[in-house]
Amino acid sequence: MGSVQGKAIIVTGAARGIGAEIARALAGEGAKLCIADVNEDAAKATAKLIGQGAIAVKVDVSKRESVKALIAETVKRFGKLDVMFNNAGISQTVNFMDVTEKDWQRIMDVNGLGVLLGIQEAARQMKAQGTGGKIINTASIAGKQGYPLFAHYCASKFAVVALTQAAARALASDKITVNAFAPGVVRTELWEQLDREFMDLGLTQKPDQAINEFSQSILLGRYSKPEDITGVTSFLASAASDYVTGQTYMVDGGMVLT
Ligand code: NAD
Repeated sequence: MGSVQGKAIIVTGAARGIGAEIARALAGEGAKLCIADVNEDAAKATAKLIGQGAIAVKVDVSKRESVKALIAETVKRFGKLDVMFNNAGISQTVNFMDVTEKDWQRIMDVNGLGVLLGIQEAARQMKAQGTGGKIINTASIAGKQGYPLFAHYCASKFAVVALTQAAARALASDKITVNAFAPGVVRTELWEQLDREFMDLGLTQKPDQAINEFSQSILLGRYSKPEDITGVTSFLASAASDYVTGQTYMVDGGMVLT
């Protein structure tokens, strides 16, 4: 596939879920991983579990100074930054008519602004190195379709797709590629939260009903595990994707066909 051996890679939101699995897979292929998360204790535990010299750094992706400090610390420890995964994200189930300004701001700050800041600050470092690099953003099926119970989340993920395209055009001359991947339904703590919120809103009656019902249209017949995503994420971090930029790869078992 093209090696990631020795590449210095940051994954945000990597303390658990999809980010942790992306990092684990890349460390297994010989990359140097920075596990970046707002939950520092969990990030440390994940870095320890991954081993292979992985480090943990606390970051709030919605704060520029925090993202700058994350990149500075990674470069201090690994000497460079080759690949940046802007993966941290949050979600919330709310009826379309009930989304408040506060809900909108909270989701957009992490999922939208967080990705903009991550791209800008990673690119600043890669430009300074003169090496080029790869930036990979976590979008979603919600970045391709509007769902009435996740309107603000969908808006934030459409923003991720837009930022991916704009940044690809802005950064190509510096040999920096920018791509995204779009998971569908992945069984992580994020979906455990959505499942609880569906019940709280009276939309479902029992645990797992929401995830099972939401997964019914998946062509491959099941929701995914974080391990289902890493073939594409490792490809995007590797030299095999050097001639790809500005793209969003659906990794959803066939939910949204583009
Ligand atoms: P998760 O909730 O299991 O993990 C998210 C991680 O991000 C957590 O460790 C959390 O502490 C961290 N985080 C939250 N806010 C942060 C901040 N401001 N700064 C730094 N870290 C922060 O979620 P997941 O399912 O692994 O989701 C990862 C990404 O994948 C998100 O962007 C999510 O929107 C996206 N996604 C998930 C699914 C799914 O079905 N689970 C589907 C499509 C897209």
